[in-house]
Order: sequence, then C-alpha cells, then structure tokens
Amino acid sequence: MTDHRRLEQATSTCSYCPKACRFSCPVSEATQNESLSAWGKMSAAHHVVAEKKPIDVEVSAAVHACTGCGRCTSFCKHENDVGPTLFAARGEAVKAGLQPRGAASTLATFHQAQNPFGRELGSLVASWRAQRPVRYPLFPGCSTLVKRPGLLEQTIAVSDAFGAPMGVAKSASKCCGYPLYAAGSFDAFAAHAKSVAEAFVETPEVAVLDAGCAFTFRKLYPEFGVRLPTRIRTVIEVLHENLPHAPERKPLPQRVGYHDACHLGRGLGLYDEPRALLARAVITIVEAPSVRREGGCAGGGGLLPRTMVETSVEMARRQALEISDDANVTMVTGCPTSTRMFERAGRRAMDLISVLEQWVTQP
Ligand code: SF4
Ligand code: SF4
Repeated sequence: MTDHRRLEQATSTCSYCPKACRFSCPVSEATQNESLSAWGKMSAAHHVVAEKKPIDVEVSAAVHACTGCGRCTSFCKHENDVGPTLFAARGEAVKAGLQPRGAASTLATFHQAQNPFGRELGSLVASWRAQRPVRYPLFPGCSTLVKRPGLLEQTIAVSDAFGAPMGVAKSASKCCGYPLYAAGSFDAFAAHAKSVAEAFVETPEVAVLDAGCAFTFRKLYPEFGVRLPTRIRTVIEVLHENLPHAPERKPLPQRVGYHDACHLGRGLGLYDEPRALLARAVITIVEAPSVRREGGCAGGGGLLPRTMVETSVEMARRQALEISDDANVTMVTGCPTSTRMFERAGRRAMDLISVLEQWVTQP
C-alpha cells in the first residue's frame, strides 16, 4: 500500500467511526474541545488527505493539536495510527505556508542549525567527552545537552555506581531529527536520518538518555528506510540490566508518583524496567488509575509546547493530578521532556536518573 493510500485509509477509518475513543485524547480533554478529539482531528485531516481540499488555517491548527502520544490508538479497535497520520498531514501545512508559528520557527531553526535549539552542539559534546575508557557511549539528546547538563552529570555518576560506566559519544552532536518528523517535514527528516546513520558508522552501540531520541532511532528511522549501524538501547535498559551490580543502599524515604512517558512506554514498550529501578530507590510509588498502554500524556511531544503552549502545560497539570493531588508528591518520569512539562505545570518533578543518583550517593 502506498503511503498516501495508507493515510487515506487511516483518516477514513476515523471519519466513519462513531468516535469510539472520544474520551482518550488528552489534548481534547485539556481544551474541553471535542473537535480536537482523535476523531475530530482525523476528520479534519480527511478533507485534505482523501478529498484533496486545500488545507486552511483551521485544519492546520487541528492537525497540529496532537502530541503523537498514541493513547487513542491504545483504545482503538483498529489500532489506527492517529498521531503519525496527523503528523503526515502537517506536511500539507508546510507546503502551503500555513504552519502554526511555533512549528514554523522550530523548522526554520532546525534547517539553520540542524537542531531545534539553534546551538552548535559539537563544542558542548567535546566538553563532555570521556577522558577514560567507558563501557557505554552515551547519547544524551540535544535537549539534555543544552538545557540539563546536571542530568548528564547524574547519568554518568549512576552508570559508574552500577558498574556500567558511560561517557558522551562523539556522535552525540547530532540531533535525532524528531522535530522535523513532528513538524511533518518528512523528506527533510529522512535526509537527516541518513546523515545521522553516517555519523554513527564508528559507534557500534549507544545508551540513549532521552526516550524521544531512542524512539526516533528505533521506531521511526526504519519506517523511513534508514537503518543505523548501531545497537540502540535506552539508559534505562542498560541500568536495569546492571541493577544486580548496583550498590546496596536503603530506599529513600520518599513518596513519588510514576508517570509512563509516552515515547518510553507506548513508544518503546518500557514499562517494567523503569518501575523496577524506581522500586529499589524509593519507599513508596503511587500511580494514576490509567497506566502503561492507557496512561496519560504530559503534553511534551509533537511540538505542542511550541504550538499550543497553555494546552501543553494544562495537560501536564492534569496528568500530575491524575497521579496524585498531593503537591508534596514528586512526579518521576523516564523522559527529560516529561519532567520539564511537570515543572512547567508547577509540580515537583524529577527524572528517574536523578532519583537513582540521590539513592546511590546517599550517605
Ligand atoms: S482512533 Fe479508532 S476509535 Fe478513535 S476515532 Fe479513529 S477509528 Fe475511531
Ligand atoms: S496521539 Fe495522543 S494527542 Fe494525538 S490524537 Fe491521539 S490521544 Fe490525542
């Protein structure tokens, strides 16, 4: 089936559906707007994809109102791939010059600097390159490199304590390209993925810190015909494998709330590993009523924090409330983007790695 036929079929399936997943979309819930349900957005995309009507500002806004979290797909009898279909429809908005401002500026920055931050990443990576032999080359992701160097430091400390030393890989100066994919700029994403594959030629294995980057390498690249010459694992998988070598420490006397980040959970199927790590590090873990495949979304994907700023923060606020309405409960996630979203929503939040670092370094 051609890509276009597949898109047509996906939007048709939704537009003829009696909105069976209407309760599932966290964007629709956060905005209280049924036209932003999976059904509403796919029906809007159907006009452009199947009926070949020119895209307009309204349809562009609708197809951009999605984080690609995949929650609707978990509740869909057809397992319809709503997120990727809406991202593909964004390509029409790119062609027509009708992207929301935040998406257009992200794309422009990416084209200029090859990453969404407009930074030169080579020198940042050089300042972190390991001065010693390490077991696992580490790919932190540009968001951590630019915004959270402390998390990078903690990852290295935890990996040492687990007997699985990591050091930043030279190839870490490349962005995975997810923002191009999320902006619907699929040709540019495929070309970028090829350039990443070339940069990874001398990297047989990496531990990837950001779940979004790991998802992009493992799931999206093959869909675009790009195979990396590199074994891709998340830092969480590597630490879980090395958990038997972790130091004997008492769990921290903390009550935390665990959130299944979308790319880590629904994206990569990693539900048990982060929970096993967290269960060693803290005394009490609370969770939302809906977890794992049906878990909520913290609003960080699909460029939503740049296109619908308030909605993305509201999504994080609602997801934190689902987990616990006690403001003293710290949200813990296995994805730096989700951690940041909870912080923006005014909740205490920590990356799983930061909790592990506190655990292994306690006196
Ligand atoms: S995702 Fe599935 S359940 Fe939801 S509207 Fe589309 S076809 Fe229906
Ligand atoms: S992928 Fe997530 S944000 Fe997008 S329509 Fe489905 S539930 Fe909503």
